[in-house]
Amino acid sequence: MTDHAETQPVEDYLARVLADCGEDTSGHLPSDAEDLDSDVPGQHALALTTAEGAEYAAGDTDHLFTIQSIAKPFVYAMAIDDLGLERVQEAVGMEPSGEAFNELSLEGGTGRPLNPMINAGAIATHQLVDPQDYEPLPQPGDASEAQRSESVMRRSARILAGLRAFAGRDLQVDWESADAEYDDGYRNLAIAHMLRTHGVLEVEPEEAVRGYIDQCSVLVTVQDIARMAATLANNGLHPETGERVVSQRAARQTLSVMATCGMYDASGRWLAQVGIPAKSGVSGGIIGVLPGQVGLASFAPRLDDEGNSVQGVEMFKRLSQDLGLHLMANERRDIAESLRQES
Ligand code: GLU
Repeated sequence: MTDHAETQPVEDYLARVLADCGEDTSGHLPSDAEDLDSDVPGQHALALTTAEGAEYAAGDTDHLFTIQSIAKPFVYAMAIDDLGLERVQEAVGMEPSGEAFNELSLEGGTGRPLNPMINAGAIATHQLVDPQDYEPLPQPGDASEAQRSESVMRRSARILAGLRAFAGRDLQVDWESADAEYDDGYRNLAIAHMLRTHGVLEVEPEEAVRGYIDQCSVLVTVQDIARMAATLANNGLHPETGERVVSQRAARQTLSVMATCGMYDASGRWLAQVGIPAKSGVSGGIIGVLPGQVGLASFAPRLDDEGNSVQGVEMFKRLSQDLGLHLMANERRDIAESLRQES
């Protein structure tokens, strides 16, 4: 229980959770994060957007970070709406892999990636979206040194438009970070070559990986990803802009896969302990979605051995317990009521 405050009781509650969980400075930064500003590891933030569009946040809410794997569920939902679930399932399964995010994890027999939350599945999903109604994004930097094909930029335009609609805001790509990751992206390229061998990729491996890494490099704040999560909580309808971002069917399918596969190889433990569909990313973000109720997001860069934010996992455990969010518990309350009680 938190103390009552005169003003902003919910934000005071979030600030308290952040402060309590922020004391843990264990964990490691991702190996490719040497270029993080030295103050970034100490930053952290927490945000909550209800399915009705009420927003609350605490901590370093202006800090921009690359979305990384948190883009995966949203792009999966887009692909389902663009192509239909059946066609998407021909390319990507929906079973937990129990392996690290960058394992190949292909299904015996079909050669499909096991699910869209691991890199193999996300690279396959990336190239499934239908970009035909979109103008290619302008090439970043010097056009004479353009490194991306027109079809990469057209697909990125479709995905960026979708991610912007989920966030309800004009998001940008960090092209420099994307280029640096691509230059070192041998493992993702190896995965893409295997997918091509199995006929899962319809485009060249370089094209799929280039676009997939650009998709990982979209810059967001903790409130952006809380709003994106709230759009999934609200059946694909943005709680503030009112836009139908994805269909109810796509939102349901995406949440189901997040529930079983969203937290790398800690997904089973997460479901038991926290009990809400979630997705985490290597830059330190985590989103969680309680269907019909709320989108939650945390940011704190240090990661545990499974690649999940150390502080973020603790914050989610605390929120789940305090607010009664666990999907499998029958003590669930209305989120507004829970927030009133805790603040
Ligand atoms: N861009 C990263 C990769 O593909 C994303 C990893 C992650 O967030 O899990 O390796």
